[in-house]
Amino acid sequence: MTLKPQDFKYVNYLWEDDTASQLDGVERLRYRSNILGADQRITNTGGGNTSSKIKMADPLSGEKVDVLWVKGSGGDLRTSTRANFAALYLNKFLSLENIYTKADVRGVKTEIEDSMVDMYRHTTFGLNPAASSIDTPLHGLIPFRHVDHMHPVSVIAIAASKDQERLTQEIFEEEVGWVPWQRPGFDLGLVMKEKLNQDPDLKGLVMGHHGLINWADEDKACYELTLSLIEKAAHYIEQHDKGNKTFGGQKYKSLDEKTRNEILIRLLPILRGKVSQSNRLIGTVHPTESVLQFVNSIDAARLAEIGTSCPDHFLRTKIKPLYVDWNPREESFDILIDKLEKGLVAYRADYASYYEACKHPDSPAMRDPNPTVLLIPGLGLIAWGKNKSESRVTAEFYSLAIEVMRASESISEYQGLPRQEAFDIEYWLLEEAKLKRMPPEKEFARNVVVVIGAGSGIGKATAHRVAKEGAHVVCADLSEAAAQATAKELIELYGVGIGVAGSGLSGCGPAIGLDVDITKRESIKSMFDNVILAYGGMDNIIITAGIFVSPDKQGYIPDDKWTLTYAINVTGPFLVADEAKRIWQAQGLKTSLVITTSANAAVAKQGSFAYDTSKAAANHLVRELAIDLSPLVRVNGLAPATVVEGSSMFPRDRVMSSLTKYNIAFDESESTESLRDKLAVFYAQRTLTKSPITLADQAEVAYLLSSNRFSKTTGQIISVDGGLHEAFLR
Ligand SMILES: [Zn+2]
Repeated sequence: MTLKPQDFKYVNYLWEDDTASQLDGVERLRYRSNILGADQRITNTGGGNTSSKIKMADPLSGEKVDVLWVKGSGGDLRTSTRANFAALYLNKFLSLENIYTKADVRGVKTEIEDSMVDMYRHTTFGLNPAASSIDTPLHGLIPFRHVDHMHPVSVIAIAASKDQERLTQEIFEEEVGWVPWQRPGFDLGLVMKEKLNQDPDLKGLVMGHHGLINWADEDKACYELTLSLIEKAAHYIEQHDKGNKTFGGQKYKSLDEKTRNEILIRLLPILRGKVSQSNRLIGTVHPTESVLQFVNSIDAARLAEIGTSCPDHFLRTKIKPLYVDWNPREESFDILIDKLEKGLVAYRADYASYYEACKHPDSPAMRDPNPTVLLIPGLGLIAWGKNKSESRVTAEFYSLAIEVMRASESISEYQGLPRQEAFDIEYWLLEEAKLKRMPPEKEFARNVVVVIGAGSGIGKATAHRVAKEGAHVVCADLSEAAAQATAKELIELYGVGIGVAGSGLSGCGPAIGLDVDITKRESIKSMFDNVILAYGGMDNIIITAGIFVSPDKQGYIPDDKWTLTYAINVTGPFLVADEAKRIWQAQGLKTSLVITTSANAAVAKQGSFAYDTSKAAANHLVRELAIDLSPLVRVNGLAPATVVEGSSMFPRDRVMSSLTKYNIAFDESESTESLRDKLAVFYAQRTLTKSPITLADQAEVAYLLSSNRFSKTTGQIISVDGGLHEAFLR
């Protein structure tokens, strides 16, 4: 290669000899894969694969044999570890060609082709458990030591153009050949091998409607070849860039960010309700300049209809997006909703007729006919997925498709995959089998749960509990730092997922931390606005925020603290419910609200007027809200008692005043936790179950009340107090 690292303009050259030289063959492959996947201009999330044929000692004979290490099924090049690579005896893999060619009926989409995938397991080297992907023959049948198969925007642009073969010739000359679109599998591997037989000087192939594959006998050379081919394509495309005339020029003007967000905040819950009819979806908004240039353009409607090109893309993006032709500067919000509704009806009908027209006798049943990508002038791209990670991937894929169309339309004319081919990928039995093998979704996997008070105590424990069930958790707290600390813990536990997209808050992972002061309606509204921008809507709310102001010996607190107690314990949950109501009604999806009250609500005693009466009011608030929000939202109360462990409600001074009150001996030098333990043991003795009450006990019930296991329970207060007979509700 003549290009030096610093010469690359369109891709990042990341290879470092110092790093690579420390690694064994397999780790060098992992390294090469990670640095290729790190640049989205080289390949998309989850797309492409790499391989190396490495000499290794056979564990059975000790003899050196060639082992084909190739990125396995699933996973992602950027984040791949050694475990993501399958290992196959190369000679055994090559012997499969005999089995394949002996079949009477063979070729693309034949029974023998699909059955080959199971045969790869017989060739496994070293008990490697990684499953081989359908692209394995593309690597195994190419007689070079290293192979990269990428999905670069600039090469897909060529591969998705009307005159793709001519363009390949013009741009790459003799260096790279071209093969027409063919669903990946054993036959495609043979087609490529034959191409190479005919022209042994070929360094790679442009794969029609798909991507790029190239090879070399040294891994660094293979990496550099991949980069230089992509560089060459990108350079050619830039020279043909149409500037202002891109996508036929602009039809609509964008909105300023503030107006755009105001519209999105109104729109997203309505939209989420409409696309979540069969299954709840999580949203990602992606209004980048490039996306806006596309959605505002004259050609957007035409190009959106053609659909996405790369087969990897439309498994997520569906065959095409829904484009809503709305004038953001001239037309009202109501007109947008009207056009959206009509668009959705037409989209679903269109999807059903695509399914009917293309299905085979053994095709899986029709999947959710709702669009996963919506394009709206002025607003950008809105993507939906079964969780945040998936929805980010969907947004990423379609924004890459936009770049493919931009490039393809500047050098030629963009062409989608034929519908039947698209269908045969979307409803491929091998894909269906892969879906069936996936572990069942967790209970809250498609839910956004807002936990108010998540910075500490019961709220923090609850945030962890619902996250364990797969929830997207909004950790809200008066303290922004505490809220974000809990969210960070959850991200560290569950990971941020894959997919590189989402503007601002919408680029988030499965948890975010937001500050909220529930005594102020504006603060609550602003928190919910952020939840909508982050996830496209919300489901359950669990309020654990509360206040206990330590009274004097007569049970009194200052008047302003009395007011504050009511503001946090009663007015706060009401304001939260009242603000959430608009969003819940816009979505129209069934959900739940849990308000934390207290066993104190039911027991008249000396000592804490403000707290006890405020919690009694909160109990009744639960009942009134249950009536007001029915049938959409179930509302229940969780009534804890004396959770001392890690509770912000039991600061050191309250613990010490309680210990004094109950004549329990303690030393002022003892740690707060030790003092709390003493109090917890004392309290436990007053209960029927005689065990200290923990945060986990409370979190369990907050989660259960929110879940469908309690789908027929509303307006109830469930005590988690260890059994206090004075507090029995009747
Ligand atoms: Zn591919």
